[in-house]
Amino acid sequence: MSKVIIIGVGGVGTVVAHKCAQHPEVFSEIVLASRTLSKCEAVAKAIGKSNISVDRVDADNVDEIVALFERHRPELVINVALPYQDLNIMEACLKCGVNYLDTANYEPKDEAHFEYSWQWAYRERFEQAGLTAILGCGFDPGVSGVFTAYAAKHHFSEMEYLDIVDCNAGDHGKAFATNFNPEINIREITQNGRYWQDGQWVVTKPLEFHRTLNYPNIGPRESYLLFHEELESLVQNYPSIKRARFWMTFGQEYLTHLRVIQNIGMARIDEVEYNGTKIVPLQFLKAVLPNPQDLGENYHGETSIGCRISGKDKNGEPLTYYIYNNCSHEAAYRETGMQAVSYTTGVPAMVGAMMFLTGKWNKPGVHNVEEFNPDPFLEELVKNGLPWHEVLNHDLEMD
Ligand code: NDP
Repeated sequence: MSKVIIIGVGGVGTVVAHKCAQHPEVFSEIVLASRTLSKCEAVAKAIGKSNISVDRVDADNVDEIVALFERHRPELVINVALPYQDLNIMEACLKCGVNYLDTANYEPKDEAHFEYSWQWAYRERFEQAGLTAILGCGFDPGVSGVFTAYAAKHHFSEMEYLDIVDCNAGDHGKAFATNFNPEINIREITQNGRYWQDGQWVVTKPLEFHRTLNYPNIGPRESYLLFHEELESLVQNYPSIKRARFWMTFGQEYLTHLRVIQNIGMARIDEVEYNGTKIVPLQFLKAVLPNPQDLGENYHGETSIGCRISGKDKNGEPLTYYIYNNCSHEAAYRETGMQAVSYTTGVPAMVGAMMFLTGKWNKPGVHNVEEFNPDPFLEELVKNGLPWHEVLNHDLEMD
């Protein structure tokens, strides 16, 4: 029986709130906190449970988060605001003795740069305070790391090649929209790609490498190599990995819009002056693009995200292994009012929180998800709407 605060009630936060509310035996009290109180109230009303309350916080301000924690005294904070707030929330956790979980690594606002060093720098302080911080507990990062840990535990003596493959084969009927926060999404995919090869990072131009991959129940989709944050921790935690890459599907229409957005300067993250006001073009663009939370109603099709791994099995024989989940946009919407990208992020965040609160993932310090026991997490994932499947010794298409 524990109290949690969920900071951020966008697409992902809404799903986390719905899912936590389904488990009153674990989440005895839930506080929804965000910058806009009315959004918290709307989500609390839609869920309609008496153990949910709301509060307001601007998580760009550490003192406000501290005051929030002092008002509610939670055991754990689930941070599903934006990556810019990660360090502030971690600071407040240390000040107030609150455990921490997030779904995206810290990014400074003025630099689209993904690395864990800023958050890993908190390891000693969390350990000394006896507090647990669980980093990157969405789908990717998140389940992708748990899948890899499960493969290492149950199937491989040595993992050599890891490819994380992320396909969204859904259709929302809009010419251009992003599936989660547009600012964060466009920053992620317009930067250089990177993959791990023989002990070092190889840098690629944005979306330079692509290939056609077949996804279960979906078929062939063009998939583009990107850098993704979980690669950084996975190659450290599994040093036998010789090559680690991340692939994401994009349609031609999406890529054409993205190219235009970049060419006309709307993906810029520096300030420009407009009529005496300073604006950041990408933040302005976010204000006019469709809201990812409103895509769910007419979204059809599925997502498919998984890990394709090859190496040696427990007997030293060659093994290829594919572990994945498919999630339907329609089913996600029926349950939570959100589409599958928010759903596949929010469910693992709830399950990670449940792992911590039930003592299964309780380890003082700052940890990535693959450092914990994958088994109880994957058991709960199935029960909470995200079934997963394994395919052994099949062509991975990943040479
Ligand atoms: P949204 O933009 O839909 O929601 C963000 C929420 O955070 C909003 O409720 C917003 O409140 C709130 N927020 C923003 N700034 C602050 C602040 N300073 N203080 C308090 N609240 C704030 O984003 P998503 O729900 O799509 O994404 C949430 C997180 O999930 C992001 O960090 C994203 O990177 C991550 N993510 C992770 C994935 C994974 O698989 N690991 C996949 C998809 C997303 P308000 O509206 O009032 O400003």
